[in-house]
Amino acid sequence: MKTQKQISKQREMIEFTIDAQRNMLKFLQTKCTHPNVVSQYKADTGNYDKSQDRYWVEFRCPDCGKQWMEDQ
Ligand SMILES: [Zn+2]
Repeated sequence: MKTQKQISKQREMIEFTIDAQRNMLKFLQTKCTHPNVVSQYKADTGNYDKSQDRYWVEFRCPDCGKQWMEDQ
């Protein structure tokens, strides 16, 4: 049986490693040129005010897992 203090300490350690892994992933993604990127064209149209309509493209790299979007 763990004490609350032990649980709290262990959670801190886990969160620390998650942060470290996330940074490693970000670094890996800067090394990738995303040659197999998948793009998906998205639209939010039909707004009463046409100027509110939005078009954007969602990109996802299947290799490094990076996801981002660009407005059209
Ligand atoms: Zn990539």
